[in-house]
Amino acid sequence: MSGNDAGGKDTGGKARLDVQLSCPAPVGTRDRVVLGHGGGGLMTNRLIEDVFLGAFDNPWLGTRHDGAVVPLGTARLAISTDSYVVSPMFFPGGDIGKLALCGTVNDVAMCGARPLYVSAGFILEEGTPIEALRRVVSSMQAVAREVGVQVVTGDTKVVERGRGDQIYINTTGVGLVEAGRQVAPNRVREGDVVLLSGDVGRHGIAVMSAREGVAFETTIESDCAPLASMVQGLFDAGVDVRCLRDCTRGGVASALVEIAEVARVEVEIRDDAWVVEAEVLGACELFGLDPLFIANEGCLVAFVAPEDVAKALAVMRADPAGRHAREVGRVMKAERAEVRLRSSLGTSRVIELLSGEQLPRIC
Ligand code: MG
Repeated sequence: MSGNDAGGKDTGGKARLDVQLSCPAPVGTRDRVVLGHGGGGLMTNRLIEDVFLGAFDNPWLGTRHDGAVVPLGTARLAISTDSYVVSPMFFPGGDIGKLALCGTVNDVAMCGARPLYVSAGFILEEGTPIEALRRVVSSMQAVAREVGVQVVTGDTKVVERGRGDQIYINTTGVGLVEAGRQVAPNRVREGDVVLLSGDVGRHGIAVMSAREGVAFETTIESDCAPLASMVQGLFDAGVDVRCLRDCTRGGVASALVEIAEVARVEVEIRDDAWVVEAEVLGACELFGLDPLFIANEGCLVAFVAPEDVAKALAVMRADPAGRHAREVGRVMKAERAEVRLRSSLGTSRVIELLSGEQLPRIC
């Protein structure tokens, strides 16, 4: 919507109102791409269903997981890809390179795989300082070394000045899934316990604060971190991990809703169960954002068998990214595909995916 006419008319001697009105709510559209299509909410899902699923229809894509687990000879290969357009490309706690490596390695790990190899494609804008690119690549290599993956192939393209925003990165990761291991939404069942590995909303708020120049008493740092060793620790400890998802775009809420919808189960979470840092909460209140929908980049939800909860929490809390790990909910029924938020007063409400984009270009 726009109210461009408000400024230009003869107002009969009255003061002219030179204002441009725009509608903050994302407008659903089928003929043009809008920012909301990148938000990881309902509009993204609709775009995927309308354009991509129909074209590439196959059983692996249909699992709607963080990546695909495909057979390769006698092995099972997990493969996942992601593109990164975060603005600004350097933010407290990370940069676009760290984000790209962590995000892709984490998605491979969420498939239950050990990440092994990564490809990296760079789309660079003419005029970008080589030194900035060096810093970004060095961040990628630091994560690769930490996780034990190799960046084995890549691509470089340059677009004219003004046709990009310095550095965009696409990363694809592959890993091996151990024989017999199944980690996917369709393994979630009634009685499973939902664990959350970290505090909520830190990445999205860190990037937004850097972009908008909003300062808080303490600098909010992104939680961007690799999660592969935490996931491997769960398997090594013998935890029956039914499903994993990193709570990136769309936050914890979207991760849970997506799993509940694919698994066709009702998930109940308690509204006092998770940790939000005071500065993150303050920023959310200031901007009218719900932390449960804000992106994290070093935090996962794990659906585990009820008898393995203590074991799983011990593994998570031993990891630097998992010190806030806790039980946040449970799978109640295997009939209603929804997520319910139960308050300490006993009331409950259904959590739904957001329509469009709360914070564009945070990953
Ligand atoms: Mg993911």
